[in-house]
Amino acid sequence: MPHSQILTAAGFSKDALTGGSLSVKTPVDGSKIACIATHSLADAETQIAKAKAAFKSWRLVPAPRRGELVRLLGEELRREKENLGRLVTLECGKIYQEGLGEVQEMIDICDFAVGLSRQLYGLTIASERPGHAMRESWHPMGTCGVITAFNFPVAPWCWNAALALVCGDPVIWKPSEKTPLTALAVQKICDRVTAAFGAEAPEGLIQTLIGERDLGEALTASKDVAIISATGSVPMGKAVAQDMSQRLGRTILELGGNNAMIVAPSADLEMALRAIVFSAVGTAGQRCTSLRRLIVHADIYDALIPRLIKAYAGLPIGDPLAEGSLVGPLIDDLALAAMDKALTQAQTEGGVVHGGGQALIDSHAAAAYAHPAIVEMPSQSPIMHTETFAPILYVVKYDDLDHAIEMQNEVPQGLSSCIFSTDLRESEYFLSAAGSDCGIANVNIGPSGAEIGGAFGGEKETGGGRESGSDAWKGYMRRQTNTVNYSRELPLAQGIKFDI
Ligand code: NAD
Repeated sequence: MPHSQILTAAGFSKDALTGGSLSVKTPVDGSKIACIATHSLADAETQIAKAKAAFKSWRLVPAPRRGELVRLLGEELRREKENLGRLVTLECGKIYQEGLGEVQEMIDICDFAVGLSRQLYGLTIASERPGHAMRESWHPMGTCGVITAFNFPVAPWCWNAALALVCGDPVIWKPSEKTPLTALAVQKICDRVTAAFGAEAPEGLIQTLIGERDLGEALTASKDVAIISATGSVPMGKAVAQDMSQRLGRTILELGGNNAMIVAPSADLEMALRAIVFSAVGTAGQRCTSLRRLIVHADIYDALIPRLIKAYAGLPIGDPLAEGSLVGPLIDDLALAAMDKALTQAQTEGGVVHGGGQALIDSHAAAAYAHPAIVEMPSQSPIMHTETFAPILYVVKYDDLDHAIEMQNEVPQGLSSCIFSTDLRESEYFLSAAGSDCGIANVNIGPSGAEIGGAFGGEKETGGGRESGSDAWKGYMRRQTNTVNYSRELPLAQGIKFDI
């Protein structure tokens, strides 16, 4: 399908795609597909004020009714799945199946949030005083600013927005400046949904700010933005955390990963091989959960690594909109240059590189396609401690499980991890307090491709935030402890006597 047709199907007129100052290129072939208008800092202030006003009424709409709005959003996303999925592919370069998968994640979290809207439970707590009742209530928190990265241009917004909306919070989205069109397409969908929902959805409930990081900074600076949920690089997260700490605002940080797989001697190597390839080269290695470090037991190293190198050599690299492609382009030339630089450093640290380099795709010469690389490393050297957002898989050997876990945990990031093993003791040990230090730890499943039902996020430099399933909703609400005295006495806690 031609690019223009994808844009039209996603709801863009020709006029909406021209005349602005933000140039949008597709990584598919490097061509310019739009030049759109951006928001100013004054617009950011206006949106923040509108959201503040919207909060006053939205927090009073019963949560199950708020869930109904999110149900309608899920329905609209179902209708738009193909159009939006194709636009995701066009704008960020992931293969179409993954573009569809990203929209499916949006639909799934909407379904989850609808159920959640009837389950925002607090506790009842035993009071030490006679004639007293204690409980915990959860109340809406205020405006939630959502800052997102280019590699998942739409799903992380929805993990946050679906929950924030049922929790009673308006949402302002600052998408990546590299993927503004998908955000605009989603905002259009939301506008239709809020219009259909009617007057209970106040103006300013769901808004989007298009532009550079200064708009994200406007959100972090404003005391009228109660929560900032930020997805992106570690340096971005550190800047956001610093700004938010000035006003002691709440943050949910979802930052970089440097994810490892341990392959134990008892592993099912067929399964491991498939999991390694998908996790390491899927989305061209541009997932926060991409597999970057493979820690393989010495006894099976020679049975696994040559097969892996062979599988890499046959990978279909190509146009992500074309059927059959499994590896699409990197987002831009800078990403390709960062990949080359990391491979050069790996070689100076003793690495043996298989693959790598630019992949030239017919008629897409201006795009940044790369051959995924496997690098056999003598030990876990400095380059393996950094996240290079590209399809590079470093491989090291281990002899002893404790040493493998030590290597797995040695890096500054703590997002996702896994072990391939059929030994129950070994896999339970990996999941124990002495095992992986990551927010996500899997057995016989690669590190990428999390389901929305679980809490998603990681430790250390990954930021410590949790989004999506489990009780992540609590991040979007404020907890209130209530004590009610229904007796005719006024006993004090801790037995204190204070007679007047
Ligand atoms: P990035 O940090 O360059 O940008 C992310 C967003 O932050 C953009 O919208 C940008 O405009 C904004 N931003 C940058 N500096 C800011 C500041 N000081 N204040 C407010 N906003 C600011 O990230 P990217 O290159 O788009 O994405 C790749 C990175 O994101 C990788 O490190 C990847 O691991 C990470 N990521 C993490 C997760 C996760 O859930 N843990 C998910 C996706 C991506």
